[in-house]
Amino acid sequence: MARTTVETAEAIIDQPIPCLDKGFVRLVDYMGGDDRIVQSARVSYGAGTKSYRQDRGLIHYLLRNRHTSPFEQVVLTFHAKMPILVARQWVRHRMARLNEISGRYSVMQDEFYVPAPEHVAIQSSDNKQGRGTALPLAEAAVVIDAMVEEQKQAYAAYQAQLERGVARELARSNLPLSLYTEWYWQIDLNNLFKFLELRMDGHAQYEIRVFANAMADCAKAVAPIAYEAFEEHILGAVTLSKSECAAVARLLAGEAHGLEGRTLAQFESKLAKIQASIASETPDEPQLPSA
Ligand SMILES: Cc1cc2nc3c(=O)[nH]c(=O)nc-3n(C[C@H](O)[C@H](O)[C@H](O)COP(=O)(O)OP(=O)(O)OC[C@H]3O[C@@H](n4cnc5c(N)ncnc54)[C@H](O)[C@@H]3O)c2cc1C
Repeated sequence: MARTTVETAEAIIDQPIPCLDKGFVRLVDYMGGDDRIVQSARVSYGAGTKSYRQDRGLIHYLLRNRHTSPFEQVVLTFHAKMPILVARQWVRHRMARLNEISGRYSVMQDEFYVPAPEHVAIQSSDNKQGRGTALPLAEAAVVIDAMVEEQKQAYAAYQAQLERGVARELARSNLPLSLYTEWYWQIDLNNLFKFLELRMDGHAQYEIRVFANAMADCAKAVAPIAYEAFEEHILGAVTLSKSECAAVARLLAGEAHGLEGRTLAQFESKLAKIQASIASETPDEPQLPSA
């Protein structure tokens, strides 16, 4: 079987997608695509690619039933540049291989993340991990000025330590989380979907969502049918807990749902997602594969 090349992936390969104020995601290379998923799923009985309709049906069938190992046969390599605060979250996705710039070997560049004014917000009152209301632009400007000033001071102190001859590995100690770092990051499509499901979600921090969205574009270019299936069966799907299923059953029987507090809030956010899906287009559900 010839090596798989995908026209849509070839069109974006090596092109940095800008992220935040100074970062980017660049698809360096990829191995496989939709064809590879189909070939590997069918290997057990020796049949290769069939019609587009059958292949699409098979890919949807695999993801709907969480038969994920064929998706591991597709691998993407990214070069990305992000603030350390984003890298700290990113690296929690352990099923990947990475190689990061070394602050022991290289002098770190004077590049810091500065949020856009519309993203400067107060601490959320109901989500301990998140942002609440955005600050008025004049107040956001004061916050940003203070951030930039602190970054300048931190970098000047770093340079002063280097000039004193202090080792780079020590001199960097007081550099902040807003400093940009970069790495090569390689992941298979199944685990990239796990990353995207968590990091494209509204609960993820805005700054990592930007990178997740850029990588989603790359995944879509490499394996368009698999990405469509991911949107259909994972990203756009809603999972109900046992209590939520009982609440739905009560609602369908014309009774009160019986939920309260945080459980009710979560249920309502799922209902809102379901209601929002009426407005968005959903692809025709493909037929089950015959093979
Ligand atoms: C909104 C949000 C907030 C978060 N907050 C925090 C936080 O405050 N602190 C924090 O530390 N993390 C936090 N995380 C990270 C989170 O706890 C998980 O570590 C991360 O999301 C794992 O994602 P993954 O399943 O894609 O990753 P992977 O680590 O790539 O795992 C992929 C699969 O392999 C399995 N796996 C990988 N490594 C192991 C292992 N060593 N042993 C057993 N199974 C393994 C996983 O169970 C999973 O099924 C947060 C994540 C999100 C999305």
